[in-house]
Amino acid sequence: MIRCISPIDGSVYATRETLSAQAASDAVERAREAQAEWAALPLDDRISRVMAGVAAVGAMNDDIVPELAHQMGRPVRYGGEFGGFNERAAYMADIARDALAEIEIEDSDSFRRLIKRVPHGVVLVVAPWNYPYMTAINTVAPALIAGNAVVLKHASQTPLVGERMANAFHGAGVPRDVFQNVFLDHETTSGLIAAKAFGFVNFTGSVGGGKAIERAAAGTFTGVGLELGGKDPGYVCDDADLDAAAETLIDGAMFNSGQCCCGIERIYVAEPHFDAFVERAVAIVRSYKLGNPLDTNTTLGPMAHARFAQEVRAQISEAVADGATAHIDTFAEDDGGAYLSPQILTNVTHDMRVMRDESFGPVVGIMPVKDDAEALRLMNDSHFGLTASVWTADTERAEAIGDGIETGTVFMNRADYLDPALCWTGCKDTGRGGGLSVIGYHNLTRPKSYHLKKA
Ligand code: NAP
Repeated sequence: MIRCISPIDGSVYATRETLSAQAASDAVERAREAQAEWAALPLDDRISRVMAGVAAVGAMNDDIVPELAHQMGRPVRYGGEFGGFNERAAYMADIARDALAEIEIEDSDSFRRLIKRVPHGVVLVVAPWNYPYMTAINTVAPALIAGNAVVLKHASQTPLVGERMANAFHGAGVPRDVFQNVFLDHETTSGLIAAKAFGFVNFTGSVGGGKAIERAAAGTFTGVGLELGGKDPGYVCDDADLDAAAETLIDGAMFNSGQCCCGIERIYVAEPHFDAFVERAVAIVRSYKLGNPLDTNTTLGPMAHARFAQEVRAQISEAVADGATAHIDTFAEDDGGAYLSPQILTNVTHDMRVMRDESFGPVVGIMPVKDDAEALRLMNDSHFGLTASVWTADTERAEAIGDGIETGTVFMNRADYLDPALCWTGCKDTGRGGGLSVIGYHNLTRPKSYHLKKA
Protein backbone atom coordinates (compact mmCIF):
# COMPACT_ATOMS: atom_id res chain seq x y z
CA MET A 1 0.00 0.00 0.00
CA ILE A 2 1.30 3.45 -0.93
CA ARG A 3 0.48 6.24 1.52
CA CYS A 4 0.98 9.90 0.71
CA ILE A 5 1.52 11.77 3.98
CA SER A 6 0.72 15.43 3.40
CA PRO A 7 3.49 17.75 4.60
CA ILE A 8 0.84 20.33 5.44
CA ASP A 9 -0.28 18.55 8.60
CA GLY A 10 1.08 15.01 8.55
CA SER A 11 -2.31 13.51 7.64
CA VAL A 12 -2.73 10.69 5.14
CA TYR A 13 -3.77 12.47 1.93
CA ALA A 14 -4.06 9.49 -0.42
CA THR A 15 -3.53 5.74 -0.41
CA ARG A 16 -3.17 3.42 -3.36
CA GLU A 17 -2.61 -0.29 -3.60
CA THR A 18 0.52 -1.45 -5.40
CA LEU A 19 0.26 -4.01 -8.19
CA SER A 20 1.27 -7.60 -7.52
CA ALA A 21 4.22 -8.89 -9.55
CA GLN A 22 1.81 -10.78 -11.81
CA ALA A 23 -0.50 -7.80 -12.36
CA ALA A 24 2.52 -5.59 -13.10
CA SER A 25 3.85 -8.08 -15.60
CA ASP A 26 0.41 -8.31 -17.25
CA ALA A 27 0.27 -4.52 -17.53
CA VAL A 28 3.61 -4.42 -19.32
CA GLU A 29 2.49 -7.22 -21.62
CA ARG A 30 -0.61 -5.22 -22.57
CA ALA A 31 1.63 -2.22 -23.28
CA ARG A 32 3.86 -4.36 -25.47
CA GLU A 33 0.90 -5.67 -27.46
CA ALA A 34 -0.56 -2.20 -27.95
CA GLN A 35 2.70 -0.53 -28.95
CA ALA A 36 2.99 -1.72 -32.57
CA GLU A 37 -0.38 -0.28 -33.54
CA TRP A 38 0.49 3.00 -31.82
CA ALA A 39 3.84 3.19 -33.62
CA ALA A 40 2.09 2.53 -36.94
CA LEU A 41 -0.06 5.68 -36.60
CA PRO A 42 1.17 8.69 -38.59
CA LEU A 43 3.56 10.83 -36.54
CA ASP A 44 1.23 13.84 -36.78
CA ASP A 45 -1.59 11.77 -35.30
CA ARG A 46 0.53 10.70 -32.33
CA ILE A 47 1.66 14.30 -31.82
CA SER A 48 -1.87 15.68 -31.86
CA ARG A 49 -3.13 13.09 -29.36
CA VAL A 50 -0.18 13.70 -27.01
CA MET A 51 -0.60 17.47 -27.21
CA ALA A 52 -4.36 17.12 -26.63
CA GLY A 53 -3.45 15.12 -23.51
CA VAL A 54 -1.11 17.90 -22.42
CA ALA A 55 -3.88 20.46 -22.94
CA ALA A 56 -6.25 18.28 -20.91
CA VAL A 57 -3.77 18.36 -18.01
CA GLY A 58 -3.77 22.17 -18.38
CA ALA A 59 -7.56 22.21 -18.16
CA MET A 60 -7.32 20.51 -14.75
CA ASN A 61 -4.83 23.05 -13.40
CA ASP A 62 -7.19 24.67 -10.89
CA ASP A 63 -7.61 21.28 -9.20
CA ILE A 64 -3.98 20.27 -9.64
CA VAL A 65 -2.49 23.32 -7.87
CA PRO A 66 -3.99 22.69 -4.39
CA GLU A 67 -3.56 18.95 -4.89
CA LEU A 68 0.19 19.50 -5.39
CA ALA A 69 0.29 21.61 -2.22
CA HIS A 70 -1.32 18.75 -0.30
CA GLN A 71 0.96 16.10 -1.77
CA MET A 72 4.37 17.82 -1.71
CA GLY A 73 3.93 21.24 -0.11
CA ARG A 74 4.55 23.73 -2.94
CA PRO A 75 2.66 26.98 -2.26
CA VAL A 76 -0.43 27.52 -4.41
CA ARG A 77 0.67 31.06 -5.26
CA TYR A 78 3.13 29.61 -7.80
CA GLY A 79 0.30 28.18 -9.89
CA GLY A 80 1.53 24.65 -10.54
CA GLU A 81 3.72 23.34 -13.32
CA PHE A 82 1.66 23.67 -16.47
CA GLY A 83 3.90 26.39 -17.96
CA GLY A 84 7.01 24.18 -18.09
CA PHE A 85 4.99 21.01 -18.69
CA ASN A 86 3.43 22.51 -21.81
CA GLU A 87 6.61 24.26 -22.99
CA ARG A 88 8.61 21.05 -22.93
CA ALA A 89 5.96 18.89 -24.61
CA ALA A 90 5.29 21.54 -27.28
CA TYR A 91 8.97 21.89 -28.09
CA MET A 92 9.43 18.14 -28.36
CA ALA A 93 6.36 17.97 -30.61
CA ASP A 94 7.79 20.75 -32.81
CA ILE A 95 11.13 19.05 -33.41
CA ALA A 96 9.80 15.49 -33.70
CA ARG A 97 9.65 15.34 -37.49
CA ASP A 98 13.28 16.43 -37.92
CA ALA A 99 14.62 14.55 -34.89
CA LEU A 100 13.01 11.27 -35.94
CA ALA A 101 13.64 11.68 -39.68
CA GLU A 102 15.38 8.94 -41.61
CA ILE A 103 19.00 9.67 -42.42
CA GLU A 104 19.30 8.91 -46.12
CA ILE A 105 22.78 8.01 -47.28
CA GLU A 106 22.05 6.93 -50.84
CA ASP A 107 19.06 6.37 -53.11
CA SER A 108 20.54 5.54 -56.51
CA ASP A 109 19.84 2.99 -59.25
CA SER A 110 22.05 0.54 -57.36
CA PHE A 111 21.39 1.07 -53.68
CA ARG A 112 19.05 2.47 -51.11
CA ARG A 113 20.91 3.00 -47.85
CA LEU A 114 19.43 4.72 -44.86
CA ILE A 115 19.20 4.81 -41.08
CA LYS A 116 15.77 4.89 -39.45
CA ARG A 117 15.00 5.64 -35.83
CA VAL A 118 12.67 3.04 -34.35
CA PRO A 119 11.01 3.05 -30.92
CA HIS A 120 12.40 0.83 -28.16
CA GLY A 121 8.97 -0.72 -27.45
CA VAL A 122 7.83 -0.20 -23.85
CA VAL A 123 9.55 2.61 -21.94
CA LEU A 124 9.42 2.69 -18.14
CA VAL A 125 9.41 6.19 -16.65
CA VAL A 126 10.22 6.43 -12.92
CA ALA A 127 9.50 9.97 -11.74
CA PRO A 128 10.18 11.98 -8.54
CA TRP A 129 7.80 14.12 -6.49
CA ASN A 130 9.73 17.41 -6.47
CA TYR A 131 8.46 18.61 -9.90
CA PRO A 132 6.15 15.69 -10.49
CA TYR A 133 4.49 16.88 -13.72
CA MET A 134 7.51 18.49 -15.35
CA THR A 135 9.96 15.66 -14.65
CA ALA A 136 7.49 13.07 -15.96
CA ILE A 137 6.60 14.93 -19.17
CA ASN A 138 10.31 15.21 -20.13
CA THR A 139 10.17 11.54 -21.11
CA VAL A 140 6.47 10.70 -21.40
CA ALA A 141 5.77 13.12 -24.28
CA PRO A 142 8.77 12.34 -26.52
CA ALA A 143 8.60 8.61 -25.78
CA LEU A 144 4.96 8.45 -26.92
CA ILE A 145 5.55 10.74 -29.88
CA ALA A 146 8.44 8.49 -30.98
CA GLY A 147 6.05 5.50 -31.02
CA ASN A 148 6.84 3.84 -27.71
CA ALA A 149 4.30 2.64 -25.17
CA VAL A 150 4.94 4.18 -21.73
CA VAL A 151 4.54 2.69 -18.27
CA LEU A 152 4.77 5.45 -15.64
CA LYS A 153 5.72 4.63 -12.06
CA HIS A 154 5.37 7.86 -10.14
CA ALA A 155 6.67 8.71 -6.67
CA SER A 156 4.72 7.55 -3.61
CA GLN A 157 4.71 11.17 -2.38
CA THR A 158 2.73 12.27 -5.46
CA PRO A 159 0.50 9.31 -6.34
CA LEU A 160 -2.26 11.41 -7.93
CA VAL A 161 0.00 12.86 -10.62
CA GLY A 162 0.33 9.77 -12.79
CA GLU A 163 -3.40 9.12 -12.50
CA ARG A 164 -4.22 12.62 -13.69
CA MET A 165 -1.80 12.37 -16.60
CA ALA A 166 -3.12 8.98 -17.66
CA ASN A 167 -6.76 10.13 -17.50
CA ALA A 168 -5.96 13.24 -19.52
CA PHE A 169 -4.03 11.34 -22.18
CA HIS A 170 -6.64 8.57 -22.45
CA GLY A 171 -9.39 11.16 -22.91
CA ALA A 172 -7.29 12.70 -25.69
CA GLY A 173 -7.04 9.47 -27.67
CA VAL A 174 -3.86 7.82 -26.37
CA PRO A 175 -4.98 4.19 -25.90
CA ARG A 176 -5.19 3.01 -22.30
CA ASP A 177 -2.65 0.26 -22.79
CA VAL A 178 -0.20 2.55 -24.60
CA PHE A 179 0.15 4.89 -21.61
CA GLN A 180 -0.34 3.28 -18.23
CA ASN A 181 0.10 4.69 -14.76
CA VAL A 182 1.07 1.94 -12.33
CA PHE A 183 1.68 1.82 -8.58
CA LEU A 184 4.73 -0.34 -8.00
CA ASP A 185 6.99 -1.06 -5.06
CA HIS A 186 10.74 -1.05 -5.59
CA GLU A 187 11.10 -4.82 -5.63
CA THR A 188 8.47 -5.28 -8.33
CA THR A 189 10.01 -2.46 -10.38
CA SER A 190 13.46 -4.04 -10.20
CA GLY A 191 12.00 -7.47 -10.93
CA LEU A 192 10.38 -6.24 -14.13
CA ILE A 193 13.57 -4.54 -15.29
CA ALA A 194 15.63 -7.65 -14.52
CA ALA A 195 13.12 -9.75 -16.50
CA LYS A 196 13.76 -7.54 -19.57
CA ALA A 197 10.24 -6.16 -19.51
CA PHE A 198 11.26 -2.79 -20.95
CA GLY A 199 13.08 -1.53 -24.00
CA PHE A 200 14.30 1.52 -22.11
CA VAL A 201 14.12 2.86 -18.55
CA ASN A 202 14.27 6.52 -17.65
CA PHE A 203 14.82 7.08 -13.92
CA THR A 204 14.77 10.54 -12.31
CA GLY A 205 15.58 10.53 -8.62
CA SER A 206 18.27 9.89 -6.04
CA VAL A 207 21.73 8.43 -6.58
CA GLY A 208 20.79 5.40 -4.48
CA GLY A 209 17.67 4.79 -6.56
CA GLY A 210 19.66 5.19 -9.78
CA LYS A 211 22.18 2.60 -8.61
CA ALA A 212 19.38 0.16 -7.78
CA ILE A 213 17.87 0.60 -11.25
CA GLU A 214 21.25 0.15 -12.92
CA ARG A 215 21.87 -3.01 -10.90
CA ALA A 216 18.45 -4.38 -11.88
CA ALA A 217 19.21 -3.72 -15.55
CA ALA A 218 22.71 -5.26 -15.43
CA GLY A 219 23.10 -7.98 -18.03
CA THR A 220 19.73 -7.32 -19.68
CA PHE A 221 21.18 -4.76 -22.14
CA THR A 222 18.21 -2.53 -21.39
CA GLY A 223 19.07 1.10 -22.04
CA VAL A 224 18.91 3.20 -18.87
CA GLY A 225 18.75 6.99 -18.56
CA LEU A 226 19.61 8.25 -15.07
CA GLU A 227 18.82 11.84 -14.09
CA LEU A 228 20.08 11.95 -10.50
CA GLY A 229 21.00 14.41 -7.79
CA GLY A 230 23.05 17.57 -7.81
CA LYS A 231 25.06 20.00 -5.68
CA ASP A 232 24.92 22.83 -8.15
CA PRO A 233 27.28 25.79 -7.71
CA GLY A 234 26.83 29.46 -8.51
CA TYR A 235 29.89 31.65 -9.14
CA VAL A 236 29.60 35.43 -8.89
CA CYS A 237 32.54 36.97 -10.77
CA ASP A 238 34.05 40.37 -10.00
CA ASP A 239 32.17 41.97 -12.95
CA ALA A 240 28.74 40.51 -12.10
CA ASP A 241 25.49 42.42 -11.61
CA LEU A 242 25.20 41.76 -7.86
CA ASP A 243 21.49 42.50 -7.49
CA ALA A 244 20.54 40.18 -10.34
CA ALA A 245 22.97 37.49 -9.13
CA ALA A 246 21.65 37.57 -5.56
CA GLU A 247 18.03 37.55 -6.66
CA THR A 248 18.37 34.62 -9.08
CA LEU A 249 20.84 32.52 -7.10
CA ILE A 250 18.92 32.80 -3.84
CA ASP A 251 15.66 32.05 -5.61
CA GLY A 252 17.46 29.10 -7.23
CA ALA A 253 18.52 27.92 -3.78
CA MET A 254 15.21 28.39 -1.97
CA PHE A 255 12.37 27.96 -4.50
CA ASN A 256 10.28 24.85 -3.89
CA SER A 257 11.90 24.77 -0.41
CA GLY A 258 15.19 24.00 -2.12
CA GLN A 259 13.83 20.76 -3.55
CA CYS A 260 15.07 21.29 -7.10
CA CYS A 261 17.50 18.88 -8.71
CA CYS A 262 19.26 21.88 -10.26
CA GLY A 263 18.77 24.12 -7.24
CA ILE A 264 21.75 26.24 -6.18
CA GLU A 265 23.43 24.56 -3.19
CA ARG A 266 26.81 26.36 -3.09
CA ILE A 267 27.74 29.93 -3.97
CA TYR A 268 31.25 31.27 -4.57
CA VAL A 269 31.64 35.04 -4.70
CA ALA A 270 34.61 37.12 -5.86
CA GLU A 271 36.19 38.48 -2.65
CA PRO A 272 35.51 42.21 -3.24
CA HIS A 273 31.76 41.50 -3.58
CA PHE A 274 31.42 38.93 -0.82
CA ASP A 275 29.96 41.07 1.98
CA ALA A 276 27.59 42.95 -0.34
CA PHE A 277 26.35 39.69 -1.85
CA VAL A 278 25.74 38.09 1.55
CA GLU A 279 23.89 41.20 2.74
CA ARG A 280 21.56 41.05 -0.30
CA ALA A 281 21.06 37.29 0.05
CA VAL A 282 20.16 37.55 3.74
CA ALA A 283 17.67 40.36 3.07
CA ILE A 284 15.92 38.27 0.42
CA VAL A 285 15.65 35.20 2.64
CA ARG A 286 14.41 37.18 5.65
CA SER A 287 11.51 38.41 3.51
CA TYR A 288 10.15 34.89 2.90
CA LYS A 289 6.85 33.84 4.39
CA LEU A 290 7.05 30.24 5.65
CA GLY A 291 3.69 28.59 6.14
CA ASN A 292 0.76 26.56 4.93
CA PRO A 293 1.11 26.20 1.13
CA LEU A 294 -2.66 26.62 0.69
CA ASP A 295 -2.35 30.20 2.01
CA THR A 296 -1.74 32.52 -0.96
CA ASN A 297 0.60 34.68 1.15
CA THR A 298 2.99 31.79 1.72
CA THR A 299 6.16 31.98 -0.36
CA LEU A 300 7.98 29.05 1.28
CA GLY A 301 6.06 25.86 2.01
CA PRO A 302 7.00 22.89 4.18
CA MET A 303 9.46 20.35 2.81
CA ALA A 304 7.71 17.38 1.20
CA HIS A 305 8.36 15.16 4.21
CA ALA A 306 9.63 15.72 7.75
CA ARG A 307 12.49 13.25 7.15
CA PHE A 308 13.86 15.47 4.34
CA ALA A 309 13.82 18.45 6.73
CA GLN A 310 15.66 16.40 9.38
CA GLU A 311 18.54 15.83 6.95
CA VAL A 312 18.78 19.54 6.19
CA ARG A 313 18.66 20.40 9.91
CA ALA A 314 21.45 17.89 10.53
CA GLN A 315 23.63 19.37 7.79
CA ILE A 316 23.09 22.90 9.15
CA SER A 317 23.77 22.04 12.79
CA GLU A 318 26.88 20.01 11.95
CA ALA A 319 28.22 22.95 9.91
CA VAL A 320 27.50 25.44 12.70
CA ALA A 321 29.17 23.12 15.23
CA ASP A 322 32.21 23.14 12.94
CA GLY A 323 32.38 26.94 12.81
CA ALA A 324 29.89 28.04 10.13
CA THR A 325 27.92 31.25 10.67
CA ALA A 326 24.12 30.98 10.36
CA HIS A 327 22.60 34.28 9.20
CA ILE A 328 18.88 33.56 9.52
CA ASP A 329 17.09 33.32 12.87
CA THR A 330 14.63 30.46 13.24
CA PHE A 331 11.25 31.49 11.80
CA ALA A 332 8.23 31.43 14.18
CA GLU A 333 6.50 28.96 11.82
CA ASP A 334 9.38 26.44 12.03
CA ASP A 335 7.77 23.43 13.76
CA GLY A 336 10.85 21.25 14.02
CA GLY A 337 9.23 18.96 11.42
CA ALA A 338 8.49 19.59 7.74
CA TYR A 339 8.22 23.38 8.23
CA LEU A 340 11.87 24.38 8.13
CA SER A 341 13.42 27.85 8.32
CA PRO A 342 15.57 28.74 5.33
CA GLN A 343 19.23 29.29 6.10
CA ILE A 344 22.29 31.05 4.70
CA LEU A 345 25.68 29.90 5.95
CA THR A 346 29.09 31.56 5.66
CA ASN A 347 32.46 30.52 7.10
CA VAL A 348 31.76 27.17 5.46
CA THR A 349 34.39 24.78 4.08
CA HIS A 350 34.31 21.77 1.81
CA ASP A 351 34.93 19.57 4.85
CA MET A 352 31.31 20.22 5.85
CA ARG A 353 28.54 17.96 4.55
CA VAL A 354 26.42 21.00 3.71
CA MET A 355 28.97 21.84 0.99
CA ARG A 356 29.40 18.26 -0.23
CA ASP A 357 26.22 16.17 0.18
CA GLU A 358 23.03 17.04 -1.66
CA SER A 359 20.92 19.10 0.81
CA PHE A 360 17.76 19.27 -1.32
CA GLY A 361 16.42 21.87 1.07
CA PRO A 362 16.33 25.64 1.74
CA VAL A 363 19.96 26.14 2.73
CA VAL A 364 22.96 27.50 0.88
CA GLY A 365 26.60 27.99 1.86
CA ILE A 366 28.47 31.02 0.52
CA MET A 367 32.28 31.25 0.24
CA PRO A 368 34.60 34.02 -0.99
CA VAL A 369 37.05 33.18 -3.81
CA LYS A 370 40.07 35.12 -4.99
CA ASP A 371 39.91 34.33 -8.71
CA ASP A 372 38.39 32.17 -11.46
CA ALA A 373 40.90 29.39 -10.86
CA GLU A 374 39.90 29.01 -7.21
CA ALA A 375 36.20 29.15 -8.12
CA LEU A 376 36.72 26.45 -10.74
CA ARG A 377 38.60 24.22 -8.33
CA LEU A 378 35.86 24.52 -5.73
CA MET A 379 33.00 24.09 -8.22
CA ASN A 380 34.61 20.87 -9.43
CA ASP A 381 35.25 19.61 -5.90
CA SER A 382 31.98 17.65 -5.90
CA HIS A 383 30.64 14.18 -6.63
CA PHE A 384 27.87 15.74 -8.69
CA GLY A 385 27.64 17.53 -12.02
CA LEU A 386 24.20 18.76 -13.08
CA THR A 387 24.30 22.53 -13.67
CA ALA A 388 26.55 25.48 -12.78
CA SER A 389 25.61 29.14 -12.86
CA VAL A 390 28.27 31.75 -13.69
CA TRP A 391 27.58 35.46 -13.19
CA THR A 392 29.62 37.86 -15.32
CA ALA A 393 29.19 40.56 -17.95
CA ASP A 394 31.59 38.71 -20.25
CA THR A 395 30.17 35.88 -22.38
CA GLU A 396 33.62 34.64 -23.46
CA ARG A 397 34.74 34.46 -19.85
CA ALA A 398 31.61 32.52 -18.89
CA GLU A 399 32.12 30.08 -21.74
CA ALA A 400 35.80 29.61 -20.87
CA ILE A 401 34.97 28.99 -17.20
CA GLY A 402 32.14 26.71 -18.33
CA ASP A 403 34.57 24.68 -20.43
CA GLY A 404 36.41 23.87 -17.23
CA ILE A 405 33.39 22.93 -15.12
CA GLU A 406 32.50 19.24 -14.79
CA THR A 407 28.78 19.69 -15.31
CA GLY A 408 25.82 18.87 -17.55
CA THR A 409 24.70 22.48 -18.17
CA VAL A 410 26.53 25.80 -17.91
CA PHE A 411 24.33 28.83 -17.23
CA MET A 412 25.45 32.43 -17.54
CA ASN A 413 23.39 34.99 -15.62
CA ARG A 414 20.54 32.56 -15.00
CA ALA A 415 19.93 29.36 -13.06
CA ASP A 416 17.47 26.60 -12.32
CA TYR A 417 15.79 26.36 -15.73
CA LEU A 418 15.38 23.53 -18.20
CA ASP A 419 15.57 24.72 -21.81
CA PRO A 420 13.85 21.98 -23.81
CA ALA A 421 16.03 22.74 -26.84
CA LEU A 422 19.13 21.79 -24.83
CA CYS A 423 20.03 18.33 -23.60
CA TRP A 424 19.11 17.73 -19.94
CA THR A 425 22.04 15.74 -18.70
CA GLY A 426 24.65 15.36 -16.00
CA CYS A 427 28.00 13.81 -15.23
CA LYS A 428 29.66 12.12 -12.23
CA ASP A 429 27.09 10.89 -9.68
CA THR A 430 24.37 12.90 -11.43
CA GLY A 431 24.23 9.91 -13.73
CA ARG A 432 24.08 9.61 -17.49
CA GLY A 433 20.81 10.98 -18.63
CA GLY A 434 20.16 12.74 -21.90
CA GLY A 435 16.62 14.05 -21.96
CA LEU A 436 14.78 16.70 -24.02
CA SER A 437 16.23 18.18 -27.26
CA VAL A 438 17.03 16.13 -30.33
CA ILE A 439 19.28 13.98 -28.14
CA GLY A 440 16.26 13.03 -26.01
CA TYR A 441 14.67 11.54 -29.13
CA HIS A 442 17.86 9.68 -29.99
CA ASN A 443 17.84 8.09 -26.54
CA LEU A 444 14.18 7.08 -26.79
CA THR A 445 14.70 5.31 -30.11
CA ARG A 446 17.30 3.00 -31.56
CA PRO A 447 19.03 3.36 -34.93
CA LYS A 448 18.17 0.73 -37.53
CA SER A 449 20.17 0.49 -40.76
CA TYR A 450 18.82 -0.48 -44.19
CA HIS A 451 21.26 -1.57 -46.89
CA LEU A 452 19.12 -2.37 -49.94
CA LYS A 453 20.82 -3.49 -53.17
CA LYS A 454 18.59 -2.83 -56.14
CA ALA A 455 20.40 -4.46 -59.02
P1 NAP B 1 14.05 8.73 -4.96
O1 NAP B 1 13.80 8.31 -3.58
O2 NAP B 1 15.14 8.08 -5.72
O3 NAP B 1 12.65 8.58 -5.73
C1 NAP B 1 12.46 8.97 -7.07
C2 NAP B 1 11.57 7.96 -7.77
O4 NAP B 1 12.27 6.73 -7.87
C3 NAP B 1 10.28 7.63 -7.02
O5 NAP B 1 9.28 7.31 -7.96
C4 NAP B 1 10.68 6.40 -6.21
O6 NAP B 1 9.60 5.60 -5.86
C5 NAP B 1 11.55 5.70 -7.23
N1 NAP B 1 12.53 4.78 -6.67
C6 NAP B 1 13.52 5.07 -5.79
N2 NAP B 1 14.27 3.98 -5.55
C7 NAP B 1 13.75 2.98 -6.31
C8 NAP B 1 14.07 1.62 -6.51
N3 NAP B 1 15.08 1.04 -5.87
N4 NAP B 1 13.31 0.90 -7.36
C9 NAP B 1 12.28 1.45 -8.00
N5 NAP B 1 11.92 2.76 -7.87
C10 NAP B 1 12.64 3.51 -7.04
O7 NAP B 1 14.32 10.27 -5.02
P2 NAP B 1 13.64 11.40 -4.16
O8 NAP B 1 14.45 11.64 -2.97
O9 NAP B 1 12.21 11.14 -3.99
O10 NAP B 1 13.79 12.59 -5.20
C11 NAP B 1 14.73 13.57 -5.07
C12 NAP B 1 16.00 13.21 -5.82
O11 NAP B 1 15.73 13.26 -7.22
C13 NAP B 1 17.08 14.21 -5.58
O12 NAP B 1 18.30 13.56 -5.45
C14 NAP B 1 17.04 15.05 -6.84
O13 NAP B 1 18.24 15.73 -7.11
C15 NAP B 1 16.71 14.05 -7.86
N6 NAP B 1 16.16 14.66 -9.07
C16 NAP B 1 16.94 14.71 -10.18
C17 NAP B 1 16.46 15.33 -11.32
C18 NAP B 1 17.31 15.44 -12.57
O14 NAP B 1 16.76 15.78 -13.60
N7 NAP B 1 18.60 15.17 -12.50
C19 NAP B 1 15.17 15.89 -11.32
C20 NAP B 1 14.41 15.80 -10.16
C21 NAP B 1 14.92 15.19 -9.03
P3 NAP B 1 8.92 5.73 -4.40
O15 NAP B 1 8.48 7.14 -4.27
O16 NAP B 1 7.79 4.77 -4.47
O17 NAP B 1 9.97 5.36 -3.40
